Amino acid sequence: MPKRQCQEALDKLFEYIDGELTDEELLRIGAHLRDCPPCEAEHRINERIRLLVSQAHGDKAPHQLRERVLSTIQMAREESR
Ligand SMILES: [Zn+2]
Repeated sequence: MPKRQCQEALDKLFEYIDGELTDEELLRIGAHLRDCPPCEAEHRINERIRLLVSQAHGDKAPHQLRERVLSTIQMAREESR
């Protein structure tokens, strides 16, 4: 797998999750994630961070949010092993 594709996929993960890319980019990155387990693992981690950030927005102290995000990253990393 060319490393350039991984770089692009990782650079655009948040935009991919938010659906802010062009159709062509969504397709290309989606296909890459299916083919590339390390990028798919990062995608899952970023999706959870996205979810936590949107859930916590406005009503949680930044300190608590940071701890939740960090523990979620840790959990996701362990699951993806
Ligand atoms: Zn990759």
